[in-house]
Amino acid sequence: MDMTFDACGIDTKHLIFRSGSSSSRRLKKPAGQFNSTSANIVFQELPNHIALAYTIYGCPLACEGCHSTDTWNASQGQCLTDEIFKRDLEKYQGLINAVVFFGGEWQPYALQSKLILAQQHGLTTCLYTGLDSVSRLLKPHLNFVKTGRWVESLGGIQSTTSNQRFFELKHGQFSRELTHLFREDPTNTLSLNSTIQGAHHATA
Ligand code: SF4
Repeated sequence: MDMTFDACGIDTKHLIFRSGSSSSRRLKKPAGQFNSTSANIVFQELPNHIALAYTIYGCPLACEGCHSTDTWNASQGQCLTDEIFKRDLEKYQGLINAVVFFGGEWQPYALQSKLILAQQHGLTTCLYTGLDSVSRLLKPHLNFVKTGRWVESLGGIQSTTSNQRFFELKHGQFSRELTHLFREDPTNTLSLNSTIQGAHHATA
């Protein structure tokens, strides 16, 4: 049989393709695995934290004006296994106090296992999602969530007209809204504007 394996060891030629996107054919991965960028340390995406951040490939939302269409393809990047993630956490131990996932909620079991590992390492957890809510599987393992897809006419979270919001969670429930943290500091706003506009996995 003709087989082509991606970074997660998945035979990509025999996966089901999603429909509905004219600009990108995206792969549906088996539950429990996803690909990501390599880890980056970020200082502003989670206010008052130094975080290890991963952009997860395979976003299914196809927001008009997304500036990160290169992340739509689930077969790009490297497979973020629990082992690789644990190795990263140990490598950056003492340098970070949080982990941020830009996407990945469409693979809730894969994301849940990473969040649990982060919690076990004593780290604060945060998810940037283009959706307006979060799976019950994930909520108990999250401290912060940024919600809302990119709508160019409304602007990113730093805009007062934005649909995007930032929340703290406690005991698996949305506890309080902290969107103002992205809007109060002009220096922060300038920096955030210059990162990844048009993508939920930054602030736009
Ligand atoms: S803006 Fe964010 S949520 Fe929307 S398609 Fe791009 S990556 Fe996905």
